[in-house]
Amino acid sequence: MSISNLEELGKILSLKEEEKNWTETGPSLSMLISDNIISLINPADPDDPIRKEFVPTMYENIESKESIDPLKEVENTKSARLIHRYNNRAALLVTSRCFAYCRHCFRRRFTSGDDGKITRDELEKAAEYLRRHKEIREVLITGGDMFTLSDMELDILLGKLKQAREDIIYRLCTRAFLANPERFTPSLMEIIKKHMHGAPFLLMCQFNHPRELNEKAVKAVSAFIDMGIPAFNQAVLLEGVNDDVDTLEELSYKLLYNRIKPYYLFQGDLVDGTAHLRCSLKKGLELEKELRKRVSGVAMPQYTMDLPEGGGKVILTENYVIGLTDGKWQIKSPFQGKRDYPEKSIN
Ligand SMILES: *Cc1c(COP(=O)(O)O)cnc(C)c1O
Ligand code: SF4
Repeated sequence: MSISNLEELGKILSLKEEEKNWTETGPSLSMLISDNIISLINPADPDDPIRKEFVPTMYENIESKESIDPLKEVENTKSARLIHRYNNRAALLVTSRCFAYCRHCFRRRFTSGDDGKITRDELEKAAEYLRRHKEIREVLITGGDMFTLSDMELDILLGKLKQAREDIIYRLCTRAFLANPERFTPSLMEIIKKHMHGAPFLLMCQFNHPRELNEKAVKAVSAFIDMGIPAFNQAVLLEGVNDDVDTLEELSYKLLYNRIKPYYLFQGDLVDGTAHLRCSLKKGLELEKELRKRVSGVAMPQYTMDLPEGGGKVILTENYVIGLTDGKWQIKSPFQGKRDYPEKSIN
């Protein structure tokens, strides 16, 4: 049973003042917390990281001067529910529903709202758009969470997309490994298998804290990987959840140990109602620098910002390149001092 109101939640957790005073208005997002998430929250710890991700607080209600759509997704919506912001890839929002709502959700203008599921007509239009736009090579199937759709709806969805463009790499984007690991039944996995022809599927997970990778979650992810689908993780840097280097290091290695490549570590977007969960960029850059020293190349996610006003994604890292003088580049070592590297050897 999922929890969707404060009264129910109050029976399980002793609510803090800022939690009691949350109201679902303005830039806020519905509350929905699933069983598996509840099982991960330590009720004795008022600062539990998983609790911070899912239990809303009054800080969300404080109106800010930030944006509800800083990534300009609405402006870049080309066909119903298809965001085409980068030339060669697009995102298809197949539903506004999730099994649980993350308080840091950057798409909260849409998530948990009234749009619901993609209609047959919208799906036809999206498929037509993909047919006409051969420059698109990758499509993110996202929302909301695609796996809130029923087995039959997913069968139709994947069938239509593969029929339109078998050569597109479709990314299956979900948070359900944490929010509802039981969703990945053998019959669902059969449906996915049925559509594994043409270009591969990629699995895109969101795990923000090592504790989220419990036995159930890992088992569900493994079912995809065992079928031959590579898995990647997109984490969000969140204050009080994972904004310390030990937690990030543990997350990276737990992911890698379970065959999931840490792909992105996102700096929080400037979305209304999420400011209190955002880590400062200064601290984020320090964490990135420190993490890079502690983990291997494959265990290192790319610390990334989706620039405001639809500027696109950029990788954030310590600037190691000092500059070019007299034909020589000066580059900082991550360990100590600096080194020279010639611009071009002349011979
Ligand atoms: C992030 C994003 C993508 C995928 O970008 P990658 O950097 O390839 O992971 C595609 N479309 C939109 C609209 C996005 O925001
Ligand atoms: S699962 Fe994704 S879309 Fe749903 S609330 Fe969380 S971040 Fe937003």
